[in-house]
This record gives sequence, C-alpha cells and structure tokens, in this order.
Amino acid sequence: MPIIVQKYGGTSVGSVERIKNVAKRIINTKKAGNQVVVIVSAMGHTTDELVSLLGQITNNPTPREYDMLLSTGEQVSAALLASAIIEMGHDAVSLTGGQAGVITEDIPSKARIKDVKFDRMKKELSKGRIIIITGFQGIDSKGDITTIGRGGSDTSAVVIAAALKADVCEIYTDVDGIYTTDPRMVPQARKLDRISHEEMLEMASVGAGVMHPRSIECGKIYGIDIHVRSSMNNNPGTLITSIKDKKGREKMEKSGLVTGIAFDNNVAKIGVLQVPDKPGIASTIFNALAKEKISVDMIVQSIHGGNVADLSFTMSRSDLKKAKDLIDSLAKKMGASGVVSDSSVSKISLIGVGMVGAPGVAAKMFDTLAGNNINMHMISTSEIRISCVIDEKLVKKAVQVLHEAFDLA
Ligand code: ADP
Ligand code: ASP
Ligand code: MG
Repeated sequence: MPIIVQKYGGTSVGSVERIKNVAKRIINTKKAGNQVVVIVSAMGHTTDELVSLLGQITNNPTPREYDMLLSTGEQVSAALLASAIIEMGHDAVSLTGGQAGVITEDIPSKARIKDVKFDRMKKELSKGRIIIITGFQGIDSKGDITTIGRGGSDTSAVVIAAALKADVCEIYTDVDGIYTTDPRMVPQARKLDRISHEEMLEMASVGAGVMHPRSIECGKIYGIDIHVRSSMNNNPGTLITSIKDKKGREKMEKSGLVTGIAFDNNVAKIGVLQVPDKPGIASTIFNALAKEKISVDMIVQSIHGGNVADLSFTMSRSDLKKAKDLIDSLAKKMGASGVVSDSSVSKISLIGVGMVGAPGVAAKMFDTLAGNNINMHMISTSEIRISCVIDEKLVKKAVQVLHEAFDLA
C-alpha cells in the first residue's frame, strides 16, 4: 500500500472546525487505499504566544526550557487531530517527535535531525492506524525534547517522508501553492505548477517563508518531490521537483529568466568606515562575530584612496545590537574612522535557473529599481539569484515593479 506523508501548517489546524476539516481529508486519503502519516504544526499563532509568555518570565530562558515549552504547541494539535479522526470512527494515534523516532543533535532550539528510527511508525502503520506526529521537534541523545528552528515542521515532514520512502509528500498550507512572489504582497502573483528544488531552496533561503529551507535541502538530497497545496480546497498546488531526471536529462523547461521574487525584512546592516586597507582586518572582524555566533550574510568592501577601505555587512536584526557593540570596540583598536548601522533595510532577490549564462538580468533589475528611484545599498549574486539591500519602506514598491518588469504576472 502506498505511503502518503501530509503536513498541515498552523493556519490549517487553527481552530476546531479546521481540525475537523483536516481529519476528513486524512480519512479520505486513507479510504483511497493509502497508509497515511501526518505531521502537524501548532494551532494558529500558538508558538508565538508561547514565546511571548516565556518573555514575560525571563529575558534569558535556558534553551532546554525554551524547547520544553515550544514543543507543547504541536502536542496540542496532534492529540486533537488524532481524537477528531477517532471520533469519526477511524483508528489513529498521535506521537511526539521522540516517540516517532526523530533523533536530533544535542543542540536545543535549532537542532538538525540526525536520524529517524521508524520501527514504531511501521508498527502502527501495520495495524492500519493513521499516525499523527508533532512537527518541529525531536529527541536528543540525552532523551531531552529539542526543537529544530521556527517553521521547521516542513522539514520534519520531508525527513519523515525520506525515512519511510514515502510515495508522496504533501505540504498543506493557507495558499494554493508556490507563487512568483508572496501573494499577500503582490495580488497579481502567479501560482507556479512546478519549481526546481534548486530555485525553491534559494527562494526559501532569502526569505520566501512559505517553506522551511532545510525541508527543500532534504528533498533535493533524497530526490523527494514535494507537493505544496491548500488545505482549504482541492486545487492542484505546486510540485517542487528536481531539474534533471534519473538519467541526468533536463526534465524541466526553463520558463523565463526569472522564476520568482523573494524578500526578507529581517535584515540589518553595519558599515565600518575607513579602516586601514591591510591583510587581517576582515579576518579579525569576522572571527570576532563568529565567536559570538553572529552569522553574517552579504559582505561588501569598497576601496577609498589613501589605503583605507569601507567594510559593510548584513545580519539578522536580532543580532544587530550585539554585533554593533562588538564592532564599535574593534573599530577603535583598528583605527577606523567610525561605525554606522541601519536596522530598517531589507533584502530583495530575483531567483531563476533561466538566468544562468543569460546576460542582462542584473542590468534590467538595476534599471527598474533606478527608474523608480529605489537606491541599492549592497548587491550579491549566486548562479541563479541576484539580491540587493534597499530601504525597508521601499520593498513593496520594489517587488511590484520587478514583478511587472520581468513579466511574472
Ligand atoms: P504554514 O503555517 O502552513 O506553515 P506559512 O505561514 O509558514 O504557512 O507559509 C504560508 C505563507 O507564506 C503564505 O500565507 C504566504 O503569505 C507566504 N509566502 C511567502 N512567499 C510566498 C510564495 N512565493 N508563494 C506562496 N506563499 C508565500
Ligand atoms: N510551530 C512552529 C513555528 O511556529 C513550527 C512550524 O509551524 O513549522 O515555528
Ligand atoms: Mg510554515
């Protein structure tokens, strides 16, 4: 019997009515002759509410208690969903990540999944039961509950689909699939029938919150097609799949130059002004940041006359204060003329396999932004992506004009 893994996100299980609706969908999938394994997120904004509760108790929660608390959201929805299915006359069992055999690193709050011991899941399936598993969590070598990073239920689903060698992996959410950009930002955004793992990984990594980046990484490594679709209707969604077939032939037609646009408002920028242009300066700065576990994204160095250079870089906003304090003290020692910071910038990115080797994409992007009076602070590229940092207040305009300029609607 085929194994189908389905994941339902927070909005899809956000109320009792929606949980009952999801229960019916799951039962229909089972009745169609499948073994069904379901991964659930916490109801609605539960996880945010738990974070805020903890914040009212302490500014410095221990990572272990953070995980203990946040993992409860998914337990609520899993038990409710299993109960709804049982109430409708079918056999179901809810399992925590640990009970389902999801083993993670011993790193609270951002653990990676190391292994899935699927004996319990196989046993339950062999009894004909529908399995409901809490997403976003696992268990470490000490037997403690760990969480795997915000939005991580997508990754739980794809990892479990890989471990069970599932036939289908479906991600049910509150939109009909993957769009050319966030449909909440641009109503003209178009749903894509297919997108490659490579493009989706880039989109997710630079801010398209619809999928957790590590879920796509896992899908790519294990060759899993991921079907992203709505839990509110039966429309076909978007298939995230590989560009090449098993024989290495390209199986996807390249559409246009650009497949999608993503943006990220969780960006802050620091500039170190007029540091002496000599070996070791960048290594001192970035080693100091690394030691404090501050991860840096874009880096730009620009040379002035007179043997000095400006060095700018971006990081997430929550790291800005810590980074600024650190760089302020380093800058003095290095003889820099000053340090500036900005926490109201955003990163906007164009993604598309079609841009490999195609001239003019960057020029068109820059022309379009310039023509709309949008200044770029920084630029970075990969083979299939161009990103730039702009003022946060101009993001909506920038996404709209680029969406139009690249004919994505
Ligand atoms: P879930 O709770 O189901 O995991 P998320 O809120 O994490 O759902 O992801 C769905 C949301 O992602 C959508 O409501 C949409 O606003 C946003 N989103 C951002 N970029 C895109 C995109 N390119 N295509 C579709 N949705 C997107
Ligand atoms: N509930 C978790 C979060 O809000 C995990 C998830 O929804 O994927 O981050
Ligand atoms: Mg999500």
